[in-house]
Amino acid sequence: MTSVRDPAPRASSYPETTPTIERLLARAPAWTLTGGYAAATGRLLLTFCAVVLAASMAPLGLTSTELRTVVIVVGVLLLAAAGSLLIHRVRRVRHAAGLAYPVLLLTALTAVGLCTENVSTAYVGLIPLCFVYTGIFHRGRDAAALLPLALGTYAAMVPFFDSRAGVRLVIYGIIWWAIAQTLALTTAYQRQVQRRLRRDARTDALTALGNRRDLEEHLSSVQAGDTLVVIDLDHFKSVNDTLGHSAGDAVLTGFGHLLDQHLRRRDYAARYGGEEFVLVLPRTEAVQAMTMLRALRKEWLEAGNGVTFSAGIATICPGVPPGTALAAADVALYRAKAAGRDRFRIATDHRGPSREAADALT
Ligand code: GH3
Ligand code: MG
Ligand code: MG
Repeated sequence: MTSVRDPAPRASSYPETTPTIERLLARAPAWTLTGGYAAATGRLLLTFCAVVLAASMAPLGLTSTELRTVVIVVGVLLLAAAGSLLIHRVRRVRHAAGLAYPVLLLTALTAVGLCTENVSTAYVGLIPLCFVYTGIFHRGRDAAALLPLALGTYAAMVPFFDSRAGVRLVIYGIIWWAIAQTLALTTAYQRQVQRRLRRDARTDALTALGNRRDLEEHLSSVQAGDTLVVIDLDHFKSVNDTLGHSAGDAVLTGFGHLLDQHLRRRDYAARYGGEEFVLVLPRTEAVQAMTMLRALRKEWLEAGNGVTFSAGIATICPGVPPGTALAAADVALYRAKAAGRDRFRIATDHRGPSREAADALT
């Protein structure tokens, strides 16, 4: 058995075909992503709108009163973005709290609408951004809850109350709601695909057990007192040679399923590769693992395919890294093979009892 460590991907190794946004995010300083992507985008939304308002002050030729209002609003938006950074740094914030970004922005735009004459129509285009944000990071129904405030903001920014004002409001409302729903549906679909890909990337296609990558993650969280078992089917090459590769596959699938049935809820099994399996049995003594393997052997023999298996068992001692325990289980497995196969051996080198005493248990 070889090492289970894979080299971790580095941000600088992103190929040129990676989407630009992904490359930018990989290079963004860690503090800009404080609180996760939703919070970072919320801050970006507030900052972007603050910049738009600030940059348009001169070209729009605002009066001094209007100027004061816009300056205050810009200041509030930037302060809120900075405050979000601070809050996320000191405490965990519930995801729903992210709705505060569009709510704050709409409130700020309402203030601009109420305190300026006509110029605020220039900023109406910022309202849909709130729905884009809500659609991507929140639920579709959150966007519906945002509609009354957004329509109020629009009314404050475009105060032309003629006979068609109501119709205009309804049309805008429907469009904004549709933007959020479209994005919410798209994002939900992408999350589902992402979940499936993540699950597939960690699952062995033949046995539906964990694969090597998944095992590595499990091994990083094992503790002293957990037991690792390495199982290898005996003379499996001859199964392929005599019955064919697909019959061999069926044996592997059957063994994986039976293994799964013998595990407790807290146990974990992975197909390490080929005809080798690794079990992680939390809070389990080596002798308990042995009892489980005996029960598995009994039922596996009843399947009647004539394939036997050998196993090496190692319990993790305090201060012993999982890789060392796995290597010890592997050595024990090869002792079981050397002793004639169809048997189990407990690792002795890192536990204390003599090899003879441990072998007598098996
Ligand atoms: P031992 O008792 O010493 O373990 O002997 P063995 O024949 O089981 O071990 P060896 O390493 O010589 O052969 C392992 C075989 O497992 C060789 C390979 O063809 C077979 N194998 C590995 N992966 C698969 C697979 O996914 N499907 C099938 N059908 N066979 C596989
Ligand atoms: Mg093998
Ligand atoms: Mg084998």
